[in-house]
Amino acid sequence: MTAQTANLQGQVAVVTGSTSGIGAALAEGLAAAGAHVVLNGLGDKNQIEALRSGMAKRHGIEVRYHPANMMKADETTDLVDFAVREFGRIDILVNNAGIQHVAKIEDFPPEKWDAIIAVNLTSAFHTIRAAVPYMRANQYGRIVNISSAHGLVASPYKSAYVSAKHGVMGLTKTVALEVAEAGITVNAICPGYVRTPLVDGQIADTAKARGICEEAVVRDVMLKAQPTKKFVEYDQLVGLLVYLVSDAGASCNGAAFQVDGGWTAQ
Ligand code: NAD
Repeated sequence: MTAQTANLQGQVAVVTGSTSGIGAALAEGLAAAGAHVVLNGLGDKNQIEALRSGMAKRHGIEVRYHPANMMKADETTDLVDFAVREFGRIDILVNNAGIQHVAKIEDFPPEKWDAIIAVNLTSAFHTIRAAVPYMRANQYGRIVNISSAHGLVASPYKSAYVSAKHGVMGLTKTVALEVAEAGITVNAICPGYVRTPLVDGQIADTAKARGICEEAVVRDVMLKAQPTKKFVEYDQLVGLLVYLVSDAGASCNGAAFQVDGGWTAQ
């Protein structure tokens, strides 16, 4: 399904970590399908405002920005409440914010572990916890957690990330069971490698951890895992998201959707 063929007019979507990479693409896709969007994420104020106003103009919908730091429970909860204060409802919640750190377990900084668990896993607990009462009241909701192939399988040197993403899978399945009769679905998208700022940032770290050059990381580590030998494209994730939040996706619940070129089939 493409954003152009779905109809999300009048719906309200919150996308965490949508100032960059996958989150920005997903927010744009929901806006293109007609939803009003609440953006969130870190970054330069002027660039975020340009993203916000450009998205609203391109698609003729309302776009707001909330600066919640996903490491802080109260701010994360307020992001969801803000959507309801601004628009009176929340229909779609996409938990996308994520960070990474690559290091051997014996060198892994404990503060990086805490940060990754907080942003990649605990923030989704807080947004979902805040959003479900609003969704229950409307007897409708779509929650999509952006997990990873690393929510299903592991790679060395990513202990915190793999643990957080496996946690996201457990959270997805548990809440899916709790809200199934309330017209709410909860699913996980598990992308393989997408060439975003987050991935660019880990190429150098992986090269250091493995003692190889950066070209070898792309060829022999990242794309080695992906049988297609191609990075996943933003549009391929947008198409799945739009399907999951549309009426056609109503029976998908508690599921993991791999978009990884066959990585986790191995
Ligand atoms: P990215 O670095 O381009 O974007 C991450 C977003 O999260 C940014 O908007 C950033 O501002 C936001 N963010 C980070 N820390 C935050 C915080 N404390 N509070 C609020 N926002 C914060 O990364 P990306 O590659 O687009 O990753 C997006 C999601 O997709 C992540 O959950 C990541 O784990 C997942 N993912 C990425 C890939 C990939 O190959 N890029 C593969 C699988 C899964």
